[in-house]
Amino acid sequence: MTDDHFHDECGVFGVFNHPEAANLAYLGLYALQHRGQESAGIVCTDGRNFNSHRGMGLVADIFQKSDIERLGGHNSIGHVRYSTSGDSDLRNCQPFTFEYAHGGIAMCHNGNIVNAGELRKALEAQGAIFQSTSDTEVLIHLVARSVGDSAETRLAEAIHKLAGAFSLLVQTETRLIGVRDPHGIRPLVLGKQGDSWVLSSETCSFDLVGAEFVRDVEPGEMVVIDEDGIRSIYPFANPTPKFCVFEYVYFARPDSTLEGINIYQARHRIGEELAKESPVEADVVVPVPDSGTPPAMGYAEASGTPFQMGLIRNHYVGRTFIEPQQSIRHFGVKLKLNANRAVIAGKRVVLVDDSIVRGTTSRKIVEMVRKAGAKEVHMRISSPPTKHSCYYGIDTPDAEELMANKMTVEEMCKVIGADSLAFVSFDGMYRAVGKPRSVHCDACFSGEYPVAIEGPRSPQLSLLHFSSRRQ
Ligand code: SF4
Repeated sequence: MTDDHFHDECGVFGVFNHPEAANLAYLGLYALQHRGQESAGIVCTDGRNFNSHRGMGLVADIFQKSDIERLGGHNSIGHVRYSTSGDSDLRNCQPFTFEYAHGGIAMCHNGNIVNAGELRKALEAQGAIFQSTSDTEVLIHLVARSVGDSAETRLAEAIHKLAGAFSLLVQTETRLIGVRDPHGIRPLVLGKQGDSWVLSSETCSFDLVGAEFVRDVEPGEMVVIDEDGIRSIYPFANPTPKFCVFEYVYFARPDSTLEGINIYQARHRIGEELAKESPVEADVVVPVPDSGTPPAMGYAEASGTPFQMGLIRNHYVGRTFIEPQQSIRHFGVKLKLNANRAVIAGKRVVLVDDSIVRGTTSRKIVEMVRKAGAKEVHMRISSPPTKHSCYYGIDTPDAEELMANKMTVEEMCKVIGADSLAFVSFDGMYRAVGKPRSVHCDACFSGEYPVAIEGPRSPQLSLLHFSSRRQ
């Protein structure tokens, strides 16, 4: 069974100088659970020893009170993972810890290093041995071979060899370091809690741990935190911002603010733009929950059409379940969504969703809404057509599997069985985001990749499955 969405990647959270560093990391990861539900891990240090706990599954299931107590220490980094690169098993769980000539170090990252395969081959040819298939381990080898005289200079030397997207956390005995790639494709934000510093993929985690948002780490910036305070290093000559625009549309949690933009408000404005660009006579606007909800609210407000929860989502669908022996049509979608007949029957319905990937789920949802008695079904999508794969840390099908890659909008409309189908335009999306297109990556819509993809595609496993999503 598949959840027909692009899937985000990973989330990272780091704490410097807090007596309950492990507990804060646990809470931080809990708030970032939407960024990866396959595995999680935390590494803590007391300045000498590194203690780690990693496991498969959800944060709440992996960590018991005794695990958190055992981790100890006052500095921590943590990671939630949805494997975009490397196999899906415990040996690929991050953070990784290792000992090298300069002491202990732990590392985790969010993104995808597109030249990890080539780098790994070169390292193996020189005798390097790998314990995992994760591209983070490639970076670890590069750091170990660097000749700089400090952790940050060795790290700077190593990341110069990387191509792709990375928001990286590194922990040494005495330092917490956060780095964003020179395009800042994936997010990384800095916060403060009393005398402690925190780094995270998203601001929503700061609220849970009681930290104040300080600022986004800039594209190409390395933030080094130690007992002397915080300082920034800029290892790349010409950072060119290309933040992932899909974070606004779908990946990030709506209560996060990234690059100065509140995610919920951006999604709401995209809905308003959609209503202006693709109006239709209708009786109700219905979101495909959860991520279709903010744009549906925007569409309803801008069009003056009532907003109704015509589809209800079951938030308690686990990863595995027992399918009935007698086949039930569209069982998978029904498990997750159910049409609310009372608000749909006899109505002209505008259905709002965030994207169409393969089109299989959209077709089933349209059919479900029709079976609930809708007179007309008009599909509106809060992103442009998804025509290309992502190579920067998002789990996507191959381009040939993407419906918009093979069909016109009219053909897609026919296949999903809607009365009309419209996507927000690039201009509409960027008007809603409120920042120019030039500072974003939108390669999965446009095919214009900010980092060249050379050689065979770095492996990004297709492990699409049901998972609890944010609103
Ligand atoms: Fe984001 Fe799409 Fe660019 Fe991937 S290709 S980083 S999903 S905008």
